[in-house]
Order: sequence, then structure tokens, then C-alpha cells
Amino acid sequence: MTVTIFDKIISKEIPSDIIYEDDQYLAFSDINPQAPVHILIIPKKRIPTINDLESSDGKTIGEMILIAKNIAKNKQIDKDGYRLVFNCNAHGGQSVFHIHLHLLGGRQLNWPPG
Ligand code: AMP
Repeated sequence: MTVTIFDKIISKEIPSDIIYEDDQYLAFSDINPQAPVHILIIPKKRIPTINDLESSDGKTIGEMILIAKNIAKNKQIDKDGYRLVFNCNAHGGQSVFHIHLHLLGGRQLNWPPG
């Protein structure tokens, strides 16, 4: 499995604006924010794409969503609302091949996203 920039963020080789961390997950601000709040939630375990998920990874995905929910509350965007997105491969616009959940909010988001 290829090492990505997110492994270097996990190991702190590359600095990031860390919002949340525990032994299994990390959340940090997106370097190119698409909304006032744009945070990436990642598992420390390397899984390249959503296509690579196994049934045993269901807990990981669920916990990532719970972390996103808690961050949304802490950032006080929970009542207005927010968007959670996983991009997968080329058509999904995935550029870093280590699964990550985008948490976007703080403004009205358009739908469809384009
Ligand atoms: P995706 O296009 O879904 O693969 O999303 C990858 C995201 O990672 C993009 O929104 C990038 O702006 C973000 N990103 C890439 N490098 C960094 C970095 N060093 N720190 C924070 N976010 C990054």
C-alpha cells in the first residue's frame, strides 16, 4: 500500500492543524478549505479507497462519522447543518489515497455539488 501525505501528517513529519486525535483517528483542517469549516477525519490505519473497505471496517467508518458529528457540535455548525463526503477514485475527485471524511460547513452548501 502506497504511503501518502496523510501518513506523514499522522507521524507529524508534516505539520497540520489538528482538531482531534486519539490512538486510531486524526482530524485536521483541510489545507485548501472549500468552506469556513473544512476538516478531514482519517483513520490512522491505511485504507486507500472506499472500494478497499472490508466488512470488518464498518466500525471504523461509523467512528469516523461520530468524530465528525462531535467536531460539528464543537464548531457550532450542527444546528445550521453541514456535509460529510467521502470521495472515491477519479470520478469522485479523490486525490489522496488514504480514506478521509470531509466535514464541510459554516455556509450554505450547493446541491448538486458539481
Ligand atoms: P480528496 O480530493 O477527497 O482526496 O481530498 C484530499 C484533501 O486533502 C483535499 O481537500 C486537500 O486540500 C487536502 N490536503 C492535501 N494535502 C493536505 C495537507 N498537507 N494538509 C491538509 N489537507 C491536505
